[in-house]
Amino acid sequence: MAFSGHTELPVAERAAFIYTKGRQKPGLKCEADSIAGCVSQRACVYCGARVVLNPITDAVHLVHGPIGCASYTWDIRGALSSGPELYRNSFSTDLKERDVIFGGEKKLARAIDQLVEKYRPPLVFVYATCIVGVIGDDLEAVCRVAARKHGIEVIPVQSSGFAGNKAAGYRAACAALWRLIEPAGGMPEKKSLSVNYLGDFNLAGEVWIVGSYLKQLGLELNVAFTGDATYRSLKNAAAASLNIVQCAGSMHYLAEKMQESCGIPYLNVSFLGLEDTADSLRRIARFFGDHRIEQRAEELIARETAAVAGVIQSCRKKLAGKRAAVYVGGGFKAISLIKQFRELGIDVVVVGTQTGRRQEYAVLSELVDNGTVILDDANPAELEKFMLEKGAHLLVGGVKERPLAYKLGLAFVDHNHDRKHPLSGFIGAANFAREVCSTVCSPVWRYVHTPVPGARAGGAVWAAAL
Ligand code: SF4
Repeated sequence: MAFSGHTELPVAERAAFIYTKGRQKPGLKCEADSIAGCVSQRACVYCGARVVLNPITDAVHLVHGPIGCASYTWDIRGALSSGPELYRNSFSTDLKERDVIFGGEKKLARAIDQLVEKYRPPLVFVYATCIVGVIGDDLEAVCRVAARKHGIEVIPVQSSGFAGNKAAGYRAACAALWRLIEPAGGMPEKKSLSVNYLGDFNLAGEVWIVGSYLKQLGLELNVAFTGDATYRSLKNAAAASLNIVQCAGSMHYLAEKMQESCGIPYLNVSFLGLEDTADSLRRIARFFGDHRIEQRAEELIARETAAVAGVIQSCRKKLAGKRAAVYVGGGFKAISLIKQFRELGIDVVVVGTQTGRRQEYAVLSELVDNGTVILDDANPAELEKFMLEKGAHLLVGGVKERPLAYKLGLAFVDHNHDRKHPLSGFIGAANFAREVCSTVCSPVWRYVHTPVPGARAGGAVWAAAL
């Protein structure tokens, strides 16, 4: 595919993964493995699996690998629990050179025995890491023997870090979840007004916000995968009459599987921003075909929108004309963020994701203005280049993007795993507006006059722009 306009990219092979709307012919390469040698912002397969499964609160999460893999993902999500706290530990077999040579299966079996004896969990997940894929330990066999020995479920997660990209980790997590929730004794009776909420990880209690909306509509939140989930709750998943999917990137595979095998249809939803929250509530209400539920949805939307209108308006006044860059994990979140920034009068000038899918990039491309740069699986050099070229005032990203924004003198909002306040629903939209406002309008930027040593001349753009 011939691309033009990005000839000064740090790595030329990346050109197909970057597209400027209006300047190039449409099309963007995505859903591919990272280019070897690029220090991509994307996480590995194992990390993808861990972030999805870790919010299962009463499970032992045992990482079969070197200690670094376990510490890298320790307490990786700010997922809250209404009960058990076992998930907040990071257990590891701590593989060493000797295990690499002689194999780590015995060490793994011993680790499971010790953890079961000490914590008596109902469920153990065993995650494969890169080195396990290299030395070829038979996780299936070790887990099968341990499950029989202890009378609990011990589920291997096939997530060797190098075996694909982060999206492969999502699929590995979904495969492990399906082993857990697949009804063994035939399908349970469906509960008619019951909804599963997939792809929300209860960061700062977000599952509870959405659960309260569903309740106000007269619906029951059956199980959330995986925020605040337990072994027992997950076993009831097949009884719901509808699956709603927030993070489609991580849960689409499981939603499809449940539709096919359990007859549960699904809706992609988003509770990020006023527009998407209202739209999602309306579509959920419409699904049940009951005018009382639709009426309750309208009342809820009107009430909650009015409650946050003052905050949104006052932030919008301060933020009009500012420009944002977005670099997040999945496409669904990027799409909602563009709409949310529009609600605040902010233009998105750079947008990228780690694991966005082709359909999501097509929607993204429709939403943004001409001149906006869209990137898949970006690296820090590219983010820097395009944020400076486009004069962004703000970067929304995760833990890995924060230092980059601050080094460039840009405001930053964390929309990732370890934030401490909810960004979902109407209350989340108000929190987001406040946070954007406080970081973009912070007086600190007035004092940032000297570019960091070695920064390119373009780095001064932030000082002039605010
Ligand atoms: S699984 Fe591999 S890529 Fe992932 S953290 Fe461990 S060593 Fe690194």
